[in-house]
Amino acid sequence: MAEIKLEHIRKVYNGQRGDEQLALEDFSLTIPDGEFVVLVGPSGCGKSTTLRIIAGLEEPSAGKVWIDGKCANGTPPKDRNLSMVFQNYALYPHMTVYENMAFGLALRNVPESEIKKRITEAMSALGLPSEMLDRQPSSLSGGQQQRVAVGRAIVRQPSAFLFDEPLSNLDAKMRVQLRTEIAKLHTRLRTTMVYVTHDQLEAMTMGDRLIVMRDGRIQQVDDPMSIYSSPDNMFVAGFIGHPSMNFFKGVLTAKKGFLYFVQDGTEQSATPPISLRLPDEKARAFASREGQPIIMGLRPEHFQDKLYMKDPDTESVFEAIVEVIEPMGSETYLYLDVARTTCVVRSRPQNRVDVNRKIEWVAEMKNALFFNPTSGDRVF
Ligand code: ADP
Repeated sequence: MAEIKLEHIRKVYNGQRGDEQLALEDFSLTIPDGEFVVLVGPSGCGKSTTLRIIAGLEEPSAGKVWIDGKCANGTPPKDRNLSMVFQNYALYPHMTVYENMAFGLALRNVPESEIKKRITEAMSALGLPSEMLDRQPSSLSGGQQQRVAVGRAIVRQPSAFLFDEPLSNLDAKMRVQLRTEIAKLHTRLRTTMVYVTHDQLEAMTMGDRLIVMRDGRIQQVDDPMSIYSSPDNMFVAGFIGHPSMNFFKGVLTAKKGFLYFVQDGTEQSATPPISLRLPDEKARAFASREGQPIIMGLRPEHFQDKLYMKDPDTESVFEAIVEVIEPMGSETYLYLDVARTTCVVRSRPQNRVDVNRKIEWVAEMKNALFFNPTSGDRVF
């Protein structure tokens, strides 16, 4: 079991044409022993580089890596007692499942009886039948191969597991299955796990804590629900959650003694720009910002169809045109044109809507978030 600590890590790669590629900048993070953290962000943001630096497959250009209280800079991967699972399984094709799992242990002179015991336990934890032990990887499905790769990591009893996009090559159903199995494994073993993914849903469902990254820098570190409900900036707000948060450009405007968010409008739009009253708490916080441009964010679930509401707050109502209807079964996503801004709302499948019709919606303003249009930082 291990605490992993990264201190002011910087990583610069030398490109093929002699140019420098900055992959990580001032990356500091402490992962307590036993925690499951997920590094999440778009492709190229430095997730794999971070994992490879922890593993010892890359050395940082600056900064320190600590594993279990010891500085690991310069320690080769084999001496770090970490197990890594890759996207492409990386099983030895000419070895059986048993041999693949046993290989690393045999190299470390673990007795045969102990190897057998660990492999039997790992197979059962991953729901793999023992008959599979004699088969070669090529005769297994992608999901089974990745389970074997996870099994190979488990039997080494590492002080931490490192996962680099392990589910990316699997079909959707298998991804969900293995996702829950890895989560169960963590509950059972309580070993530190560092998991890299570009998939925000995987990150939300698996991690104790998420590290949201962009362009080699940490954007936010928190538990999944705090990141979802209190994103620090527009990037995090837009990246986490599906469908993404809706953003509206506008101005804070005082009317009739209250503060309103008034959307920037265009003459050509089929519906007027929205004008929505801020709840008292938000209006108080924004009193000094009257007249200033601002961006309002609302998630798709924070809208209601006015037709189905008993007593809608008239100050939160706006008009929109339905552009696309996406039935998902348990819910329906509607893409609305709101004065030339596309807005996705979550609707009940039984609600009746038609494309190109003008309808009235109610925004749950108590859930609205506000961002600085220049920096993108959340202001409330
Ligand atoms: P992610 O895992 O988030 O997709 P990476 O850590 O793989 O991102 O890459 C971060 C940045 O570093 C990218 O811009 C990538 O092109 C660059 N990079 C990664 N590995 C190398 C390498 N071996 N040589 C040069 N540049 C690299």
